[in-house]
Amino acid sequence: MRIEAGCCQVYLAPDPINAEIVKDLLVDHGHEAYVRRAYLWGGVGELPANVYPSVWVPLATAEAARKVVRAFEADTLDKAGDWVCPGCGEPIEGVFAACWRCQHERPNDVARR
Ligand SMILES: [Zn+2]
Repeated sequence: MRIEAGCCQVYLAPDPINAEIVKDLLVDHGHEAYVRRAYLWGGVGELPANVYPSVWVPLATAEAARKVVRAFEADTLDKAGDWVCPGCGEPIEGVFAACWRCQHERPNDVARR
């Protein structure tokens, strides 16, 4: 778990959309939350591995926030099966909505298991 300047990272997202979803979910639960590094997305593969956007909260609420995130992750993993990119044949983890190699979007017919 990364901690910086009184804040704690509670979620590492596969893309900026998921980061926003988790941030909004935390805000809905009464948390103060914000997204870091989303602006660097697009450079995945060229830059160090930590360019994925992450969601941060103040340390004081980190424990409660992680419970919200864990519930979200369990729900997401349950729905998202791994898939094979129809564009380039690359196997892609279920949490990703587009191919990291050729940007092809996940086909709808494999979006749900
Ligand atoms: Zn692809």
